[in-house]
Amino acid sequence: MGITFTELRENLKALTLSAMAGGLEVHLRQAKESGIGYDEFLLELTATELRSRSENRLNRRVREAKFPLHKPMETFDLNAVPELDIRLFRELAGSGFIKERRNVIFLGRSGAGKTHMATALGIEACRNNYRTRFVTCYGLVNELIEARHETTLQRLVQKYAHYDLLILDELGYIPFSKEGSELLFQVLAERHEKGAVMITTNLGFADWTQVFGDPVMTAALLDRLTHKAHIVSCPWDSYRLKQSLKEKGKQGRTTHANNGL
Ligand code: ADP
Ligand code: MG
Repeated sequence: MGITFTELRENLKALTLSAMAGGLEVHLRQAKESGIGYDEFLLELTATELRSRSENRLNRRVREAKFPLHKPMETFDLNAVPELDIRLFRELAGSGFIKERRNVIFLGRSGAGKTHMATALGIEACRNNYRTRFVTCYGLVNELIEARHETTLQRLVQKYAHYDLLILDELGYIPFSKEGSELLFQVLAERHEKGAVMITTNLGFADWTQVFGDPVMTAALLDRLTHKAHIVSCPWDSYRLKQSLKEKGKQGRTTHANNGL
């Protein structure tokens, strides 16, 4: 490669087009071999840069979201949950609710796949370039309680207000102290109609007072959270339980068949 090549690569680097700089040699060689025109060569090279940028952006968004496990959409088996409103689920995957600042509440038993679905939709949100954050209710409340002794509380509330999508996992597993619910209320009030919140819970709305303590505050919170919210009800049994019963069923049938031989 000659001096022009080196200079060109330096220019691309100076313009922070690093994927184009990195792919230049290969693309030039391929272009010469296949005899494609200048326009096609430039198209391919710029496409490389765009692809690399969107990949980097997705990785950055996913890293910032702090999902507990990497469970993208394709790992969720829709056939296992025939009661799921698939039309709604697909619509949510398009992230329109984030733009509309509408909340999503997953209601269902433990093991139903609520965390998995929330994670998958969160990854889709990252793909659609929304700032996303996944946190358990318990983790968030603890973080708020720790910060409240310091001047950092307001900053923390602002931090959680600025995400485009806040996923609050496992509401209802552990009741909060009065202080804890007040702090959580503060975060949710700050986000109200400013950003979408996705909640997973095993509690029916009637039982939310048990978690938040104060009935007046719970009513105010529910009113805000459920306003224009998408409620995804997941009334089926635990996925793992269903899977292991299926496995047992299969084994039973196999044993039976073997006995018949
Ligand atoms: P929940 O949050 O409702 O308690 P999880 O999302 O933690 O349930 O699901 C329990 C386990 O079952 C997880 O490992 C999850 O990945 C898996 N799971 C649940 N539903 C499905 C599904 N439809 N397809 C694939 N895996 C699933
Ligand atoms: Mg869960």
